Amino acid sequence: AQKRYASIRDRSCVTADGHRIELLMNAGLMADLPSLPSSGAEGVGLFRTELQFLTRNKVPRRAELAALYATVMDAAQGKPVNFRTLDIGSDKVLPYMKKQDEPNPALGWRAIRVGLDKRGVMRMQLQALLRAAQGRPLSIMFPFIAQLEEFLAARAHLYREIHREKSLGHVLPESLRIGAMLETPSMAFSPRKFFEEADFISIGGNDLKQFFFAADRENERVRRRYDTLNVSFLSLIEQIVGRCAETNTPVSFCGEDAGRPVEALCFAAMGLRSLSMRPASIGPVKHILLRSNLAEVKAVIAEAREAGEQTVRPAVMEYLRNR
Ligand code: PEP
Ligand code: MG
Repeated sequence: AQKRYASIRDRSCVTADGHRIELLMNAGLMADLPSLPSSGAEGVGLFRTELQFLTRNKVPRRAELAALYATVMDAAQGKPVNFRTLDIGSDKVLPYMKKQDEPNPALGWRAIRVGLDKRGVMRMQLQALLRAAQGRPLSIMFPFIAQLEEFLAARAHLYREIHREKSLGHVLPESLRIGAMLETPSMAFSPRKFFEEADFISIGGNDLKQFFFAADRENERVRRRYDTLNVSFLSLIEQIVGRCAETNTPVSFCGEDAGRPVEALCFAAMGLRSLSMRPASIGPVKHILLRSNLAEVKAVIAEAREAGEQTVRPAVMEYLRNR
């Protein structure tokens, strides 16, 4: 697939009507790094850090993590990398952590909730990230923020670690971006301060969709019932894009749907200008965006909505066939 799109790999992604869309890749393993140059990704929109924790039988050491994060930054050769702090719990259970007996793990003690309650691991991870950056830019995002205070508290921990690194005489990152993942519907309606305080927002579409439709993303029976191009979900995306625009907060979408060409096209039509996906999807997504007119797609979506359709997919597919 990579070969098929080789001719557009180094082209910047601008739609036929002139909208620039940033295409980033998701990563989490060292084995993903060679895909950065080969896919044409402009950076890593989501680096999932939990894999290093999941594949060991004890908590990794700080020095080991710092070396690993430095390798990721080296491989990116100056391209941006958004490191997401540990997102465990729910489907991702650490073999060395006491398993919580929770009736609804996806709604349970996970991600930033664990990070804020059990500070040791998050502190160690933040220290490792700061040490890996060593005079380079650093971008960190916190997963599963469901209310403003969680973001502020997580950021305060990071500030504390920066302070500590400084007092120890360590070299600080050249610059720091602190973002939040938006993966609960609550944050689309959060106080304006959330969007003002976050340096950037990354929409975690997998979780956002699961909570929006109350449909378990792991449950084959229900997960495909609700179309991403459902007008309700597109309205939610539109709402988030609008909130971010009010405060000039950069926003990206990093769930699996960003890597599906028709979904990516509709997200761009709803105003998203940055998408992060698995590396193999960058070619196909760029291919459709390069030859698409977002204003036309937007009009098709608006028409289907006004006609009272539940999903805009048939209308968009028909438009794509006939154009
Ligand atoms: C998401 O929820 O969309 C996301 C990108 O994070 P993860 O799939 O790791 O939960
Ligand atoms: Mg998620």
